[in-house]
Amino acid sequence: MTYKTTIGLEIHVQLKTKSKMFCGCDNNAEGVQPNTLVCPVCLGLPGVLPVANKQAIGWTLKTGLALNSKIAEHSKFDRKHYFYPDLPKGYQISQYDLPFLIGGQVEIEVAGDKKIIELTRIHLEEDAGKLVHAGTDSLVDLNRAGTPLMEIVTEPCIDSPLSAKIFLQELRSIMRYLGVSSADMEKGHLRADANISVSADEKLGVPVEIKNMNSFKMVEKALLYEEKRQREVLDAGDKIAKETRGWDDAKGITYSQRSKEFAQDYRYFPEPDLPPFEPTKMFDLAKLKAEIPELPAEKRKRYQSEMGLSLQDAEVIAIDQEMANYFEKTAEIVSPKLAANWIINELKIDGLVKIKPEDLAELLKLIDSNEISGKIAKDVLPQMLETGKSATDIIAEKGLKQIGSEEEIAKIVDKIISENSEIVSSIKAGKTSAIGFLVGQVMKETKGQANPAMVNKIINEKI
Ligand code: ZN
Ligand code: MN
Repeated sequence: MTYKTTIGLEIHVQLKTKSKMFCGCDNNAEGVQPNTLVCPVCLGLPGVLPVANKQAIGWTLKTGLALNSKIAEHSKFDRKHYFYPDLPKGYQISQYDLPFLIGGQVEIEVAGDKKIIELTRIHLEEDAGKLVHAGTDSLVDLNRAGTPLMEIVTEPCIDSPLSAKIFLQELRSIMRYLGVSSADMEKGHLRADANISVSADEKLGVPVEIKNMNSFKMVEKALLYEEKRQREVLDAGDKIAKETRGWDDAKGITYSQRSKEFAQDYRYFPEPDLPPFEPTKMFDLAKLKAEIPELPAEKRKRYQSEMGLSLQDAEVIAIDQEMANYFEKTAEIVSPKLAANWIINELKIDGLVKIKPEDLAELLKLIDSNEISGKIAKDVLPQMLETGKSATDIIAEKGLKQIGSEEEIAKIVDKIISENSEIVSSIKAGKTSAIGFLVGQVMKETKGQANPAMVNKIINEKI
């Protein structure tokens, strides 16, 4: 049987606003003692009134503009009721039928194929607290209660576990470019739940929901496992159960958590303590739009069409804003291809922080002008990192300049030829690939300071 896989994702993105969604409490709980960033509002005490965080709404609208969503003219918050020990009010303030944003698209590249992931909606809500299990006790930390969360829901349009992973990585990148979230999956700043179904015809199969995936790798692994499991169930002539499954990363399997035969009734109703919104009137949308930087998809295109990078290099650089900024600065001075190659393969994270783009460009210019070989440059780079000195200074101090004169190189070539008469005769007999060996010997003799192209040329002339 050939099966079609359909995946939809529901992503919660934690906004890094200064204060929480409906109160003035500090929103950054990292490394903070439990239950210290709380107030009567986020503790859900009776008689308090929530006030919506304008920055969180503005950032949500900006995200919508970046993802081509339609901004709602009328919107409101609603109460979503359920009981859980980490939810002090017994309901979450969320959005039901009038989310801030409707639709939208994210463009991704999967193994060279362009794909558009359609979004259903984006709404804003508050996070719950956190349960910490210690032995037989369960403790609750409400520092996170009331943190603004943007919930992004995709259409069931993702065709493979790999596409799902790449989409999430693209989304992380966009959130970071927009400056609205650190979007770190490992830290729970970006959380993804997936619905996956497998069917033999064009109709959607029975969706199974998967939770507890805390990294991009886990998302892909869990979906691959589930895709295979559902195919096997169908192959055996059985039916897929509509259920929620958890991902057990240690065992590498999904397991049944609860049946979803009956939809939970959250008894949504409009939040009576917050007025409805007219988002298009509340914000200057043109101004918000102007604040959106060039995003990774546009950068990928520009790097290929205008700067001559391969898709693969363009992808690696564009996905990381810091690397992209670094690359663009370096490529103003030296050729983009050379800059990309060095930034991706040699510089690494440490170099991005410690070496300025213009200092890297200075090193690369020396390669371009044949003053040093690429090999010498690779030795110079770690010394720049270590000493903080410029490439020019290190090369002058250590006498690493390339031997440029033909005469000097010719002398060394003569020496190598006389020492390797057997190799020379084999080359003369037609084994031209052995020339590489002689070039290597000359490079060794000159400690890499000869220009390999020139060495090659001279050897060819002499044999
Ligand atoms: Zn509070
Ligand atoms: Mn939610």
